[in-house]
Amino acid sequence: MSDIAANIVSIRQRIERAAATARCSPERITLVAVSKTVNEKAVLDAYQNGVRDFGENRVQELADKERIVSQARWHLIGRLQTNKVKDVLGKAFLIHSLDRWALAEYIEKRATKMGINVPVLLQVNVAGETSKAGVTVPETVLFLDSLGQFPHITVRGLMTIAPEVEDPEEVRPVFRELRRLFDVISKQSYTNVDMKYLSMGMTQDFEVAIEEGANIIRVGRALFGPR
Ligand SMILES: *Cc1c(COP(=O)(O)O)cnc(C)c1O
Repeated sequence: MSDIAANIVSIRQRIERAAATARCSPERITLVAVSKTVNEKAVLDAYQNGVRDFGENRVQELADKERIVSQARWHLIGRLQTNKVKDVLGKAFLIHSLDRWALAEYIEKRATKMGINVPVLLQVNVAGETSKAGVTVPETVLFLDSLGQFPHITVRGLMTIAPEVEDPEEVRPVFRELRRLFDVISKQSYTNVDMKYLSMGMTQDFEVAIEEGANIIRVGRALFGPR
């Protein structure tokens, strides 16, 4: 068994345990293997061991790797520059990082030209870290409401990147807050919003994220090893 195969087994077990604590079915949780900087061989290894979702934070790397494993679903998880939008539309299954108004305008413009609808997650900067992208919690509802004017964008959920901490328990309140926001929005009806995904949790904290309601986790180092 390769290291990657063994890592996947162990991550799946950890997902199962966290899902049991959260009283949800582990099948409801999508593991996105974050393959930034890893080589093709490692991506294929993960695919052969059952991984069907991959995440990249750069458009070029996503486009290159998408060609190798085109049957997988490719997620864009990193900051998207407006000049790269045209290269990722139609390739990414889901863009997790809609983090600013100018980007929404740009996606709408390109998607209109291409005649496609683009599923995105709204990136929320829950902890309000100045180093991180995303809309703040108080801005979220107005931002979502305004997105109703863009018929080629569908908001499928929320995403956050928690602060780096020693003990994952420290970021539990961040995940809990995003979950609360997710529930509030899900109960309302906004145009072009169809809430399904809550993308939170990475190597350092995915179990806590699942316990707080994540249904997409983005795991890099625990799966592929240190970068
Ligand atoms: C790199 C990255 C991850 C994965 O981080 P690990 O610590 O390797 O699990 C998850 N989400 C985003 C947005 C990332 O950039």
